[in-house]
Amino acid sequence: MSVDPATGGPAVLRGTFAFEAAWGGVDVKDAYELRIEVASYPQTMPRVFETGGRIKREADEHVFAESGRLCLGSELRLRQKIGPRLDLLSFADECIVPFLYAATRRKTEGRFVLGELSHGYAGLYEDYQDLFGVTGDEAVRSALRVLATTPRAAVRHRCPCGCGKRLGQCKFRDRIAEIRQLAPRKVFEDMNRALRVGKLGVKT
Ligand SMILES: [Zn+2]
Ligand SMILES: [Zn+2]
Repeated sequence: MSVDPATGGPAVLRGTFAFEAAWGGVDVKDAYELRIEVASYPQTMPRVFETGGRIKREADEHVFAESGRLCLGSELRLRQKIGPRLDLLSFADECIVPFLYAATRRKTEGRFVLGELSHGYAGLYEDYQDLFGVTGDEAVRSALRVLATTPRAAVRHRCPCGCGKRLGQCKFRDRIAEIRQLAPRKVFEDMNRALRVGKLGVKT
């Protein structure tokens, strides 16, 4: 892959992305044409596009139809994999390769082989229930509201875990503290705002 000359926007890497990966005893060796936009992590997530026309721009293929951006996973899950600093090689290994591996096998086997979430909104709620350790969409919204406030204000909120106590009186505060480490608070504020208009983190 090569880097496009700077144009004032995000840095852009472009070219052939070759990989070899094995999962469940099935080895896949393949290559895709990709464009990777890298803006200023951790404020903004890297965006990945397939430019060779092998992956259709549709929800079933986990691609956002409008922009063609690959749906590599929920934002907080990706941030959990990336960590506090973006290392492009580990981003490629942990976020891009699993997606492409699954895309190649889906072509030959007709089904998605890695644990697949629903696309878009529903998938985010599924994933965030799991990540936060809560049950139900309302609990996810409640946790995001708490994450969007300062830690000092958050302890006075009703706990998202459903215990009926305030966050400051429940062990769930430790989980919230861990999740806070995944992103700058601005990111949670944006998610919380997007969620009020029904677009939780589903940036196309
Ligand atoms: Zn998706
Ligand atoms: Zn609780």
